[in-house]
Amino acid sequence: MESLSNCPLCNSGQLAVFLECTDYTVSKSKFKITECGACGFRFTNPRPEESKAGEYYKSDDYISHSNTAKGIINTIYQRVRRITLKKKRQLIITASGKNSGSLLDLGCGTGEFADECARNGWQVKGIEPSANAREFAKKQYGLDVYDTGAWSALPDRTFDVVTAWHVLEHVYDLKGTLNHISRLLKQDGMLVIALPNCSSADAQFYKEFWAAYDVPRHIWHFTPAHVKTLFEKNGFTLQSVLPMPFDAYYISMLSEKYKGGNVNYGRALVHGYFSNRAAKKTGNTCSSQIYILKPVK
Ligand SMILES: [Zn+2]
Repeated sequence: MESLSNCPLCNSGQLAVFLECTDYTVSKSKFKITECGACGFRFTNPRPEESKAGEYYKSDDYISHSNTAKGIINTIYQRVRRITLKKKRQLIITASGKNSGSLLDLGCGTGEFADECARNGWQVKGIEPSANAREFAKKQYGLDVYDTGAWSALPDRTFDVVTAWHVLEHVYDLKGTLNHISRLLKQDGMLVIALPNCSSADAQFYKEFWAAYDVPRHIWHFTPAHVKTLFEKNGFTLQSVLPMPFDAYYISMLSEKYKGGNVNYGRALVHGYFSNRAAKKTGNTCSSQIYILKPVK
């Protein structure tokens, strides 16, 4: 394990324990989340060394790497994903103003979104650290998927769009990653990311059971304000923020499971609904959100 003694966002050394969460998916171990006293940014601390992080992804339940439809929550996830894949592609078209172009999907997992785009006229490449997920994406969909290290070999200003759906909360070197993305995007290129939002109503309700803390796989726990700060410090401007209303239901269901062992679907639906309603009232505080960003070039 390794500890950070300064906030990675503002460098303050004023850190305090915010919450202690359990890894319900793989290790069943407890991990602390630290909150910065100066800027409020939260992160898993201490955390596994990057070289050991792979150990915490070894589970059939780790959905985006396994692509199996096992259990009710998994089945719902797979069904909803089919709808959301199309919606995500439409969002790319609307935001970029392009019907096709070159797209890099960062952390593409088993390749479903990359495939959705490739089948609809986009030139797609993927980056994925998990060898199993990479092989699946190559075999199943014939995609061009590289290991994380390989992207430094991709030429400058190659892509119209870079996407990272629920990826950056897993990435150790945020600054280095944003530099890579910036280099790879064309001058008028666009970055689209999705992240959980730990200031959402469902996060506040479920506290240490909130499934999107997902320690220690999630090492950063963003709020919309911290996303804005991080990207502005690294040469991007935030264009818009969009809610992901399905996530509130999915995360509430998982959180119910973590809280009580058996899932109370009724209560999960109620909390998903209330979280989305609160998000609408207060503006962009949904369980998970999409951020559309442009590099400053
Ligand atoms: Zn800070």
